[in-house]
Amino acid sequence: MAQREETAAATAPTSQDGEDLENLEDPKKLKELVELPPFEIVTGERLPANFFKFQFRNVEYSSGRNKTFLCYVVEAQSKGGQVQASRGYLEDEHISAHAEEAFFNTIVPAFDPALRYLVTWYVSSSPCAACADRIVRTLNKTKNLRLLLLAGRLFMWEEPEIQAALRKLKEAGCKLRIMKPQDFEYVWQNFVEQEEGESKAFEPWEDIQENFLYYDEKLADILK
Ligand SMILES: [Zn+2]
Repeated sequence: MAQREETAAATAPTSQDGEDLENLEDPKKLKELVELPPFEIVTGERLPANFFKFQFRNVEYSSGRNKTFLCYVVEAQSKGGQVQASRGYLEDEHISAHAEEAFFNTIVPAFDPALRYLVTWYVSSSPCAACADRIVRTLNKTKNLRLLLLAGRLFMWEEPEIQAALRKLKEAGCKLRIMKPQDFEYVWQNFVEQEEGESKAFEPWEDIQENFLYYDEKLADILK
């Protein structure tokens, strides 16, 4: 199993006050938000194909995959029903904040309290206990936020602490799913760099469906 170390939580650099939605739409401003120190977090709109192929592969034993890749879609809905969407990805280096934490420290502070947000995460593996706790706290205090979390693999799911954390996520209203083959394809098409001349078709790996079913069953058992 991959080992993930918990490091001291980095200090939050921004206030929790909602800022203009424009910050999410303006790449320059979003970049400023995202690049605030001290997070050593890699961000961007699309990740290299080899990262995707290695990190998102839903293998049963995630040896060597000690990072979390988090691809996100933020849909902001106004009272009039208009929806504006933005997306990007975050990758953690495990020396500072985890990708999930980075999302809350960099993206959520720019939320406009007058809008409703539907956030979808495609993460290479499900959150550690500390990040799950952070998700629960954020959902509890951010009433205009709904989170759908799709995970390629379950992180250390045999651990009672992790199982309890996943149940708490569900209780807090976080929708939890295991990524299906079509979800991996969606990430491939929308979040992975496509080189010119290279085939853009997603090539599912041999055991993708089998591994999805494996993790889907584990998650259902944990959440029931
Ligand atoms: Zn974490």
